[in-house]
Amino acid sequence: MADISCQLLVIGAGPGGYVAAIRAGQLGLDTVIVDDRKPGGTCLNIGCIPSKALIHAADEFFAMREAAAKRGIPGISASEPDLDWAEIVGWKDGIVNRLTNGVTGLLKKARVKLVPGRARFLDGKTVEVTSETATQRIAAENVIIATGSIPVELPMLPFGGKVISSEEALSLAAPPERLAVVGGGYIGLELGTAFAKSGSAVTIVEATDRILPTYDADLVRPVRTRLEALGVEILTGAKAKGLAGGDGDLLVELADGSERRVGADSVLVTVGRKPLTEGWGREELVLEMDGPFIRTDDTRRTAMRGVYAIGDVAGEPMLAHKAMAEGEMVAEIVAGERRRWDKRAVPAICFTDPEIVTVGLSPEEAKASGTEIRIGSFPFQANGRAMTLDRDDGFIRIVARADNHLVLGIQAVGAGVAELASAFSLALEMGACLEDVAGTIHAHPTQGEAFQEAAFKALGHAIHI
Ligand code: FAD
Ligand code: NAD
Repeated sequence: MADISCQLLVIGAGPGGYVAAIRAGQLGLDTVIVDDRKPGGTCLNIGCIPSKALIHAADEFFAMREAAAKRGIPGISASEPDLDWAEIVGWKDGIVNRLTNGVTGLLKKARVKLVPGRARFLDGKTVEVTSETATQRIAAENVIIATGSIPVELPMLPFGGKVISSEEALSLAAPPERLAVVGGGYIGLELGTAFAKSGSAVTIVEATDRILPTYDADLVRPVRTRLEALGVEILTGAKAKGLAGGDGDLLVELADGSERRVGADSVLVTVGRKPLTEGWGREELVLEMDGPFIRTDDTRRTAMRGVYAIGDVAGEPMLAHKAMAEGEMVAEIVAGERRRWDKRAVPAICFTDPEIVTVGLSPEEAKASGTEIRIGSFPFQANGRAMTLDRDDGFIRIVARADNHLVLGIQAVGAGVAELASAFSLALEMGACLEDVAGTIHAHPTQGEAFQEAAFKALGHAIHI
């Protein structure tokens, strides 16, 4: 006999799971959500939010150091700032607590029952939840699997000691004097930049021939330039081989086959994340897989009736806002509404310095799909607002169909461009044409004007260049 019965059981209270549970509760479904961590998942506890807090703190510290060295805006001087990393980590933890408590409150408001513990399927409709104090059985008419993802571990650099994952990197006692980052993707570059600005000597070890290999070279160039200006050493085509003599330097095989020792007090391994598909009784279910992910259809239903999968466990892109959108959709489906995944694009932002935003197709992807395209690109060097912010590196680029000017993709690199992602996504989701973007009044002076100018440029008549 089950201890609890419900219409909907959600396993995992990350951005996918908690959004699904809140929406289901709003729709009147009798909903239970299980997690052994505070609600918010990877994103709120050990991912998006704490990383962005440290990135911001590092930016503030770095700006003060630049002022102290008289390298900032002429006329501003300051004395060398102090860094109390423990206090910064405490401030970051305070933000995390506010948010996770907030999610707990939202679940309560939506009348969702939060059961702390680890869930394990007994069969397709029954789950056992184990916590330190109790074991409970939950029987559910529908289940959403939202177990998220975990960091990939390298066999020659297992986590432990000086080899850390992003989770430990977010709660260090102090910035390591020398930090080696294995993997020059999202996490490695976001955190590597923050530690470089906080005083660490950072070396990035990336296996492919360039950092951020999933972004096109034009977008990555300003980021690389900035990293080099920060004194970050970048080794591409480089493979980490392990630690010399147990706990020594990081051994790296360089592109030419030679070996190099990288001195490091901490080695941050950020070579990707993998969906969490083990440890919760998947073998009790009859699910189909899609590579490492659980296969779902466009309603996020798995091969089993009444069992859904969302978020990182259900496929790329492994991003919080994609998980949330799936959570909201599946809750409505379980409540009987007709919904399916029909998003035109999922925006992606890399919170490096400068930031990178992409939505929709890159020029190469659009060309590869056989579409004839027009491209307009506008540099921040010609944007007044960028100059007043003392950061005119980067550009905004717009990709559109050549025949009807439908916007297919938008990319930007520049300081603070993350906040433009919403405007870019809206343009794509609304099916905007170049004329719509060009014909929209963009307030002056803003970086967004470069978006309008990129559209003008694609139409052949940019004004300010
Ligand atoms: P998760 O957030 O991973 O949540 C899954 C939850 O399920 C966890 O709380 C886990 O404890 C729980 N769980 C797992 N198994 C069980 C079980 N058997 N029983 C009970 N509970 C279980 N994405 C962005 O969009 N923007 C960013 O800026 C960003 N920054 C990131 C920075 C870092 C350092 C990291 C690591 C990730 C970042 N991400 C970012 C990715 C983002 O965190 C994930 O895409 C997002 O959290 C996925 O949400 P989810 O709900 O699928 O899973
Ligand atoms: P990633 O996939 O972004 O980057 C991993 C990098 O490691 C790649 O460049 C890859 O070529 C490299 N690599 C792989 N094996 C290697 C090896 N043996 N030696 C050296 N380099 C190696 O992965 P991540 O940075 O760990 O982030 C994981 C995921 O988390 C991301 O894909 C993203 O979905 C999510 N995330 C998103 C954000 C954001 O939205 N701003 C921030 C952080 C994380």
